[in-house]
Amino acid sequence: MIIDSTKYSGKCSCGREHSMVTKFSVVESGALKNIDKYLNEYDIKGFTVTVYDENTYKATADRHPSADYEVVLSPDNLHANEHGVDLLLEKLPDNVEVLIAVGSGTIHDITRYCAWKIGAEFVSCPTAASVDGFCSSVAAMTWHGCKKTLTAVAPKIVVADIDIIKNAPKYLAKSGFGDMIGKYIALTDWKISNILTGEIYCDSIAEITMNATKEVMESAAGIESGNEKTFEKLTYGLLMSGLAMQMFGNSRPASGAEHHISHIIEMSPKGLSVSSDALHGEKVGVGTIIAAREYHRIAGLQDISFKNYEEYSKEYIGKIFTDELYDEILAENEKDCASGIKGERLAECWSKIREEIKKIPTAENLCDIYEKLGVKMKLADINVADEKEQELIEYSPCVRNRVTLMRLRKCI
Ligand SMILES: [Zn+2]
Ligand SMILES: [Zn+2]
Repeated sequence: MIIDSTKYSGKCSCGREHSMVTKFSVVESGALKNIDKYLNEYDIKGFTVTVYDENTYKATADRHPSADYEVVLSPDNLHANEHGVDLLLEKLPDNVEVLIAVGSGTIHDITRYCAWKIGAEFVSCPTAASVDGFCSSVAAMTWHGCKKTLTAVAPKIVVADIDIIKNAPKYLAKSGFGDMIGKYIALTDWKISNILTGEIYCDSIAEITMNATKEVMESAAGIESGNEKTFEKLTYGLLMSGLAMQMFGNSRPASGAEHHISHIIEMSPKGLSVSSDALHGEKVGVGTIIAAREYHRIAGLQDISFKNYEEYSKEYIGKIFTDELYDEILAENEKDCASGIKGERLAECWSKIREEIKKIPTAENLCDIYEKLGVKMKLADINVADEKEQELIEYSPCVRNRVTLMRLRKCI
């Protein structure tokens, strides 16, 4: 499967010009063995360093891209944070022109951020279908304890070898599934904001993301058996979602309330006492069920008297977020995206918003699907107490200044 993403560049029906850094992706068995050919075709040359962790170095032993230098990081305690970045920067020679990441999400985020720091070109070789961020132009980082999306470099090409991806541990692909199913919420949040505030919305990008989500949903049943077609479609879907983010210029099409639940768990604020070592997509998958249940509950309410939106107070933020996180979250919400939204406006738009919510699968629906696939579905499955659900619903919108229905609960 080849994705020629140059066709997504240029003037779009939404009136904007979308530009793509990623020119080409290949998703097929043995793709890594041909990487030199692809590098050549896309004129990617210069002093090349390949970055692995010990696991991906072993998994790709018979097909390492030829490079001038190789870095193999220990996967123990390796995270996409300031320590991971320092670790890689220390190991890089001075004259790097091309950085190739061979790994899953963490290796990609660290490498793409370093590529931006040192001005190198970036090439992505995913080794698992675990997240949708391979094509991203930003790195999802926990920076001094706070979840941040930092400027980074999108890959010029993506070489996804299905031989490697289908043999990665199955929980990684299930995590990729969780990251994708979250798009039902993310796309709804985006559309709701468009209806309510006129936020820029692109039908083409939303359609690409929704199609990618359906592709993944339809193919997920073959994860457990290691079906080659399943992994091809799963990887393709994840890449398309990433390309849609690239088209838009930020994560809006792919990340809404469900991601904010994942992020707040990752930040683990002192006042909330939640923490989890679950994978990104596992947390997003659980967050999706929580958001779906809450959104359908809201859509089912009768005779709501909508209130004007009120910004988060310092006291409110301070109840949960302390120390460095307090300042970070305060700064994040300083220019509150929902400021000025009036109850009247919500009432006016409510029937349209309700129609959008109805398109989200119900929590029961999602639970059935998760159960069949053996995907983590409850907070307890990711080692968070189930009774934390209400606090997560309340506080998770603070972590990202973005209009979501979860943030607008305050008006309801
Ligand atoms: Zn567009
Ligand atoms: Zn995600």
